Amino acid sequence: MAVLVLIEIADGLVRKSSLETASYGAQVAKALGTEAIGLAIGEVPAAELQSLGRQGLQKVYHNNESRLPDFVPGAYIKIILQTVQTVQAQVIILSTSNIGTAVGSRLAIRLGASLATNVIALPEIAGDTFKVKKSVFSGKAFADVVLTAETKIIAVKKNAVEILEQEGSAEVEAISADITDTDLIGAPQETIRATGEVLLTEADVVVSGGRGLRGPENWHLIEDLAKALGAATACSKPVADIGWRPHHEHVGQTGITISPNLYIAAGISGAIQHLAGVNSSKVIVVINKDPEAPFFKAADYGIVGDVAEVLPKLTEAAKALNQ
Ligand SMILES: Cc1cc2nc3c(=O)[nH]c(=O)nc-3n(C[C@H](O)[C@H](O)[C@H](O)COP(=O)(O)OP(=O)(O)OC[C@H]3O[C@@H](n4cnc5c(N)ncnc54)[C@H](O)[C@@H]3O)c2cc1C
Repeated sequence: MAVLVLIEIADGLVRKSSLETASYGAQVAKALGTEAIGLAIGEVPAAELQSLGRQGLQKVYHNNESRLPDFVPGAYIKIILQTVQTVQAQVIILSTSNIGTAVGSRLAIRLGASLATNVIALPEIAGDTFKVKKSVFSGKAFADVVLTAETKIIAVKKNAVEILEQEGSAEVEAISADITDTDLIGAPQETIRATGEVLLTEADVVVSGGRGLRGPENWHLIEDLAKALGAATACSKPVADIGWRPHHEHVGQTGITISPNLYIAAGISGAIQHLAGVNSSKVIVVINKDPEAPFFKAADYGIVGDVAEVLPKLTEAAKALNQ
């Protein structure tokens, strides 16, 4: 019996969310008196996988199937199921990411497993059952869920758990799976990566703009602050709809859900549909010229002022901190 952690790879590196799931899986394994074993799919140097020992993984299986440059559900499920069998995994740890969400439900059906997504804390283990705390209603409430099936799948919410940093190196073992053309149905023909220095879904800090920016010509105000903070940029829905910014930057109910450590919202009113995508950010800073803007109710810090005046001052201050 082992704890299996799915390790997601992007551009040859382990995603930050997978450092979180590896740390989580290692702690669950310790509580169960067993090993935490990773499974990485895709092109990644062995040294990158060995370093997952620092998050507590003993071993990482690596499948570098050349026909899988990107996520394909059928093929991933096959590789994961084979590895579950190899390591006799009864606990599977995923991230609540696009990949984790897509494979979690499929695995639960195939394995007759209990599944909890958006999990934010380590399980309370009592005999054969796990009680896990999860975030529900777009981060507005918590639910305690009891997982009773023999196999348990936990998808951990991004940025909800600490990354362990300890001494250690994981053993890496190459594995292959019998991937057929049927398993590859739905494989993307071409992938166009979002440009930008920091990936929005992985970012620790996000600087976001709304209609209060008044036009794309003012977006340098957002970009300058983001650059000074090493942050990703985001926007409200209307901004993407009008074409000021690309749609992959749109956060909210109908866009991307993020939970960075710091979310800075400039010229965004704070409509409920926007908040749905950002309200589990650890710290929210709101800049709005209207002191009655709804976003201030959800803010940890608020600045009442014009974005054209406030943003350059914050950028200056951030640059001074970096010197
Ligand atoms: C089904 C549905 C789904 C939706 N999904 C989403 C979603 O996923 N994401 C999303 O963002 N929205 C979503 N919306 C839209 C949402 O309801 C709001 O309309 C939208 O979030 C408003 O965008 P905004 O705050 O940029 O613009 P506005 O509502 O126009 O607000 C602009 C804000 O900027 C402030 N401002 C203006 N000038 C300045 C200045 N110079 N300096 C400082 N502040 C200034 C104003 O006081 C105002 O608060 C959805 C709506 C529906 C009906």
